[in-house]
Amino acid sequence: MKLVTRAQWGARDYRRPNGATLYSGKRRGVKLHYLGTPYTDRPHAQCAAYVRQIQAQHMDGNGWSDVGYSYIVCTHGYVYEGRGLKRRNSANGNTTLNNQDYAVLLMVGSSGLTEPTDEQLHGARDAIEYCREEGPAGTWLGGHRDGYATACPGDTVYAWVKAGAPRPDTKEDDMALSDADMKKLADLVADRVWKRDGLPVRWGTKDNPDWSAYSILHHATEVSRDNRVRLMRLQADVGALSGVVSRLAEGGGLDAAEIQAAAEAGARAALEKLGQQLTDTDPQG
Ligand SMILES: [Zn+2]
Ligand SMILES: [Zn+2]
Repeated sequence: MKLVTRAQWGARDYRRPNGATLYSGKRRGVKLHYLGTPYTDRPHAQCAAYVRQIQAQHMDGNGWSDVGYSYIVCTHGYVYEGRGLKRRNSANGNTTLNNQDYAVLLMVGSSGLTEPTDEQLHGARDAIEYCREEGPAGTWLGGHRDGYATACPGDTVYAWVKAGAPRPDTKEDDMALSDADMKKLADLVADRVWKRDGLPVRWGTKDNPDWSAYSILHHATEVSRDNRVRLMRLQADVGALSGVVSRLAEGGGLDAAEIQAAAEAGARAALEKLGQQLTDTDPQG
């Protein structure tokens, strides 16, 4: 779980004695909440400030002793510590309900961003499991609207939690491949592409009829590099020729049209020669 402690998000200290009230008895389970206000997604660097804003609203606006929720989950899957595991939340509607279940908020709005992200669902699932294991809490799951007249936590989050709060199919993090995995994948690709799928390997030779993909790529790179050198030489030749043409034109031995024709013939011959060389480099030949 990507837990963000109160110190890490810069929480204000809670008021005593009410903010320090402990649960009496075990929690039945976890209730989910949403913001119930318009919300737009934001870079994670701004999430802590938003959590501080929620705390300020609860302490200064509602007059509560602390942020009301046990935990708060941002769209990036981070779980912010609110009242935590031991201190009774004040978000579920009344003292009985607060004492009954943990209160976990998903930072999802009533407009704007209304669908939780996959990362957020993973974070909420993390928080639920954490509450169950460490709280402890029972397996009951629901929303603020269970037993209290409110639209919270919105239809999407409510449907998800009543379905048992399953993890999304997407992976939580991109899994890094080990070197062994990479080699296995490379072999598999080579096998499928170059052999099993019957893609003809045109460049196989008698000595090496089953060239690997690497050999072919390596060879193609060498041919390409070689051709570049030849092209550069050709360009140099053309440059030299054009210099000669200029000198001849100054001397007046040939008229301009004759010089031009000679130059073009020379260039054409050079290009034809280059074409022949390119054909020669085809390793199939
Ligand atoms: Zn709520
Ligand atoms: Zn975030």
